[in-house]
Amino acid sequence: MSRPELIKDVVASIAEYVPGRSIEEIAKKYSINPSEIIKLGSNENVLGPSPLAVEALVSTATKVNIYPSADASELVDAISVYTGLPVENICASGPGMDGFLDNLMRLLITPGDEVVLPTPTFSYYEIAARANGAVAIHVAPGDELEFDVAAIKDAISENTKVIFLCSPNNPTGKLMEEAEVRDILGSTKGLVFVDEAYVEFADHNLSHLVAEYDNIIIGRTFSKAFGLAGLRIGYGLMPAWLKTEYMKIATPFNVSYPAVMAGVAALSDKDYLEKSISFTTEGRAFLVKNIPFKVYDSQANFVLVDVSPLIARDVAESLLKKGIIVRDCRSFRNAGDSLIRVTVGTQEQNEKVVAAFKKAKACSDQ
Ligand SMILES: *Cc1c(COP(=O)(O)O)cnc(C)c1O
Repeated sequence: MSRPELIKDVVASIAEYVPGRSIEEIAKKYSINPSEIIKLGSNENVLGPSPLAVEALVSTATKVNIYPSADASELVDAISVYTGLPVENICASGPGMDGFLDNLMRLLITPGDEVVLPTPTFSYYEIAARANGAVAIHVAPGDELEFDVAAIKDAISENTKVIFLCSPNNPTGKLMEEAEVRDILGSTKGLVFVDEAYVEFADHNLSHLVAEYDNIIIGRTFSKAFGLAGLRIGYGLMPAWLKTEYMKIATPFNVSYPAVMAGVAALSDKDYLEKSISFTTEGRAFLVKNIPFKVYDSQANFVLVDVSPLIARDVAESLLKKGIIVRDCRSFRNAGDSLIRVTVGTQEQNEKVVAAFKKAKACSDQ
């Protein structure tokens, strides 16, 4: 028995979040030993976590009977050092940046407010906004899948509450120019959310704009460059007035004590971060150069492959059968049916990925 009438109307029309596929699922489906599966579908850090973060986790394990500080102040202090912004501009959040988005939408959205969503992009913005009654205004991309700034500005109305910009964008890997973001910030009375989940792998970031604009929010995470996806830590950078309002409604104690201290340790581990970045940029260049299809230039820890005239489902399936998990991008709005996103792996994994794409292409050329 089910009681759908008990659920808010807005939820009925929301599509389910489609996560990357798991090792367990693929191992079972294709009868592959789980230890032989290469998971490159969720943009996780293949280096594993920083050893300093692991140490912090172990040493906090005996203290989990105590609530963490309400505002994760140890972590906020460390993020302040890392970003160069004062603590008045920083909120730590759990679970991950997704939790930050959730709290933010709960703070901002009144039913009927519009959110502008350039596509293709990360799908959770739409879910979090619509769950609170927002109306999604989607903006189609340009010819190279770039965000179309003129079209984004055209989509802005009196009712625009939030514009979501992902830079580098998931799944394209494209970075927005600072001038483009400034243009959009100046074109709306609403807020502009800039998702910098992958910014450590990119040529520039926009955190300095937080000191200059009263309508920018930047989302960040420890899940990608810092290798702590399983701990679910994110943070937001925003003007001080907004932090004050945000803290009124944020879920209390939403970053666990082990996560707070592991985050602090990860920020202190400069060697790990450097390695994570250099390893990723080198592997990324290798994939761009060697995958025998069109590969978009990327500023993130993944690349986007256009397998046309083949279709993504078939090519992704042929890789899955070999135990390589990649992301078929059909669930991303306006991504068409020929795009596959691949996380940068170790050199050995990258070579297997290239070989598998070559095989898929050779089969189709026959
Ligand atoms: C991974 C990712 C996030 C989510 O980060 P969490 O902190 O793990 O919740 C947010 N935005 C984009 C674009 C991502 O790819």
